[in-house]
Amino acid sequence: MTKKIAVLPGDGIGQEITEGTVDILHTFSSLFDRSMTFEYGLIGGHAIDETGDPLPEATVTLCQSSDAVLLGAVGGPKWDRNPSHLRPEKGLLGIRKALGLFANLRPVKAIPALLSSSTLKEEVVRDVDLLIVRELTGGLYFGEPSERRQVAGEDAVVDTLFYTRSEIERILRKGFELAQIRKKRVVSVDKANVLESSKLWREIAEEIAGDYPDVTLEHMLVDNAAMQLIRTPAQFDVVVTENLFGDILSDEASMLTGSLGMLPSASLSETGPGLFEPVHGSAPDIAGRNEANPMAMILSAAMMVRVSFGWEKEATLLEEAVFQTLKAGVCTKDIAAATNRAPVGTSDVIAEIKRQLQELA
Ligand code: ATP
Ligand code: MG
Repeated sequence: MTKKIAVLPGDGIGQEITEGTVDILHTFSSLFDRSMTFEYGLIGGHAIDETGDPLPEATVTLCQSSDAVLLGAVGGPKWDRNPSHLRPEKGLLGIRKALGLFANLRPVKAIPALLSSSTLKEEVVRDVDLLIVRELTGGLYFGEPSERRQVAGEDAVVDTLFYTRSEIERILRKGFELAQIRKKRVVSVDKANVLESSKLWREIAEEIAGDYPDVTLEHMLVDNAAMQLIRTPAQFDVVVTENLFGDILSDEASMLTGSLGMLPSASLSETGPGLFEPVHGSAPDIAGRNEANPMAMILSAAMMVRVSFGWEKEATLLEEAVFQTLKAGVCTKDIAAATNRAPVGTSDVIAEIKRQLQELA
């Protein structure tokens, strides 16, 4: 079955890394006889310039009618002074909402070729292979900040951490399901010693754990989890947590194994298309200079073909092509310094990944 991919390059380096990634996916498609079509949509600053709207209706329709969405990055200094409804980030928030994306997945895996460049000791990060699953629709990110200020009055503020049973249950189930296809261990992170929402979270985790008898469940308080992530990160498989805790822990975890240019992410809905994007932003400082590391986005595409299309074996080969490229010493400036290599351009990295993929196929 042909898979339809909505491609949203966005702004800054989003443009060049998307071009390279789609190029690789064409090679992937013919090597593995997996049929994909690509349809392009506008989002972010480019969409504002062309249509006056950071998320044109046509883009929403395109994404909703696709099997998956591949997104580069949005934003840049050109639009920084725009009024709030004309900000590039509005496009990203809007598409997340329109697609009902409630689970944000950030895998962090040790990359042998980059181990020595980690700020942590090599033996601490060597076996890291974890997945942070962050709830994306509830929690403290509830209501507009200005409204909250008015509720409390001049010299007091209030934030609301709100969750419904069904929101908690669906993210926990996603965590258990993902653990089933990984190392079968879930660590549920909360603050159940102080927060009511965390007490309910823990109760629900216990209730549904019985539905996944092959997965072990452990509860961990968020402060402890923050410490354990630095102390012994290799102990984790799937970490599932609420919105704010997940925001903080996923940024913390992302630094375990190296560069921002290497980190993929996925955001999933209940039944509709998922959205796959690199963790990094549009990096306007290096945009258009053939310097951007395309690997985070290519690894995001690998997550897409694995999670959304079920092409497990091929996804692993695509990831392997990226790792072999690093091993061969072919990399962009962001990693070159840390690994004592001479940097090459984005397009050279793309060409080498294609070559490696052809060899592996
Ligand atoms: P955003 O607010 O959109 O998340 P940010 O302020 O977090 O953006 P990024 O755009 O993610 O910033 O990147 C920060 C810096 O890291 C960039 O300015 C760039 O120098 C570097 N960087 C980010 N991604 C890459 C990449 N793929 N390749 C090379 N360098 C990168
Ligand atoms: Mg950022």
